[in-house]
Amino acid sequence: MSESSNILQDTFGRNHNYLRISLTEKCNLRCTYCMPINGVPLSPKSNLMTAQEVYEIAKVFVKNGVDKIRLTGGEPLLRKDFPAIIQMLSTLNVQMSITSNAVLIDRHISDLKKYGVNDINISLDTLATDKFMHIAKRDQFKKVYQNLLLLIHEGFRVKVNVVLIKGFNEDEITDFIKLTKELPISVRFIEFMPFDGNKWEKEKMISYEEVMRYVYNEFEEKDVERLVDAKNDTTKNYKIKSYKGSFGIISSVTNPFCDSCNRIRLTANGNLKNCLFSNTETNLLAQFREGKSIEPIIQKVIMKKHKMRGGMDSMQKLENPDLHQQNRSMITIGG
Ligand code: SAM
Ligand code: SF4
Repeated sequence: MSESSNILQDTFGRNHNYLRISLTEKCNLRCTYCMPINGVPLSPKSNLMTAQEVYEIAKVFVKNGVDKIRLTGGEPLLRKDFPAIIQMLSTLNVQMSITSNAVLIDRHISDLKKYGVNDINISLDTLATDKFMHIAKRDQFKKVYQNLLLLIHEGFRVKVNVVLIKGFNEDEITDFIKLTKELPISVRFIEFMPFDGNKWEKEKMISYEEVMRYVYNEFEEKDVERLVDAKNDTTKNYKIKSYKGSFGIISSVTNPFCDSCNRIRLTANGNLKNCLFSNTETNLLAQFREGKSIEPIIQKVIMKKHKMRGGMDSMQKLENPDLHQQNRSMITIGG
């Protein structure tokens, strides 16, 4: 391995300044595309990062150039020490954000504000109560929708993640876009991705192209505006002229954005994953607990990053269930 002062740069010149930390493997919902039907084996508590360890490990990344941290899960708000974690992370010079299912978020409004967590991604796959129950297996639609409105009211920047699954919610694509008429949110349609235990099939996926067909069937072409995407943005962004919000598509399957990937992931049990689709990971936490420097490990993991989707560089490989099963379930990665 070449000795580089920038340990976050990989062999393709990509700089990993964005750390995503999963705080827990547990969740209060059971979204079928994320959580396998029989759940996932949970790590023993002693193998999970404590709040202090999350902070100390994040500090090493920040020292090396990470300037953006997203907290995710499982459901990050299930951690009783969530306020303590954001309090500690707020002392680092980073942009902090979270991804949450929003069920519990009303309890955290003041802490989120106090510690500068202004960017919130929430997951909501349907606008119908019965369909919510069907996909998330818990009757929480009303709570999530109320909390979405609360976040907007409280001035947070809110993105709404919608995983599209054929036969389930493609008929709601334009309803979600119409929400952006009055709500200043960004709705992001996500192509259904394959992970261990989520029964993915290519046929269940609604592609970027299909989403745009629904859009142009409903709206006039002149009213659909393509926005300029931010650097490293995984979303292709659009808006309907005169609407307050916007919408976009995350096309990890049909049109991956690996060339500009700047993300590195830390799982709740302290494993480092260099790609969402990677089937290998390296335990940082054990080294950290032994008092060893974790920087050489971080560099090694980054240098091993594949050019595309953890080595699944063709649709054929992506469709191979054996390869998904070598990866974790999404619930324990965090998106
Ligand atoms: N519990 C939080 C939530 O639901 O927002 C955070 C964790 S969740 C794993 C993070 C994101 O991953 C969510 O927006 C979810 O919709 C997305 N996700 C989970 N499984 C997925 C899959 N198979 N394909 C695409 N996105 C998925
Ligand atoms: Fe839980 Fe989020 Fe996965 Fe749904 S998508 S099961 S809310 S972690």
